[in-house]
Amino acid sequence: MLDTYRHKGQRKKLAEIVAKKGITNINVLKAIETIPRHLFIPDTALHKYAYEDKPFPIGSGQTISQPYTVAFQTEMLDLKPREKVLEIGTGSGYQTAVLLEMRVKVFSIERQKALFDRTSTFLPQLGYKTKLFYGDGYKGLPSFAPFDKIIVTAGAPYIPEDLLNQLKTGGIMIIPVGEGNDQIMKKITKTSATNFETEDLGSFRFVPLLKEKGRD
Ligand code: SAH
Repeated sequence: MLDTYRHKGQRKKLAEIVAKKGITNINVLKAIETIPRHLFIPDTALHKYAYEDKPFPIGSGQTISQPYTVAFQTEMLDLKPREKVLEIGTGSGYQTAVLLEMRVKVFSIERQKALFDRTSTFLPQLGYKTKLFYGDGYKGLPSFAPFDKIIVTAGAPYIPEDLLNQLKTGGIMIIPVGEGNDQIMKKITKTSATNFETEDLGSFRFVPLLKEKGRD
């Protein structure tokens, strides 16, 4: 697990690229500059590209999201320290680490056992303490609800009702919705126990949010 000055320089540049693309939240940019993204990519042959603003494979047919997308979703969550955040799709744990750098409490669910196992060992090695769960993100985590914020990091064919129910009134969910290759990023604000406001934030591309637990 080697992190060098070269890597540090590369991620400073990555934070600049992400800022040029429109991210303004200083804490989000600091997180990009701080987190050693290359270590979240299992194939070491890809490490030299790790600070390009691109997604990369992480095994189990999944990807680590593009840094701009991670930054965008995080910025849109409008996080305050100590808020409770539910993340669907732990994957490599990179988005989880960005959330933790924002000083919130993260509960994250992953349906691929191999990724869940790897990330459960890896994040503590980097000093990140959080609660990771192996399960089906469509169902959320009823026993830990309600959440101030919910972030979904895979393309959802529809907005899961369980997740809406587990959001606090005043809470925000950021979720890419759509069945094809492209999704529309939606910001859903819970305005009362039964009312929601939805805002469309543009087109993005994610791997699909799948049903049930994976079997790999
Ligand atoms: N946040 C991750 C992105 C990983 S890609 C990162 O930064 O690396 C999306 C992830 O969602 C994949 O790991 C995939 O296995 C997971 N996923 C897909 N369907 C899911 C579901 N129903 N519940 C939980 N996780 C799911």
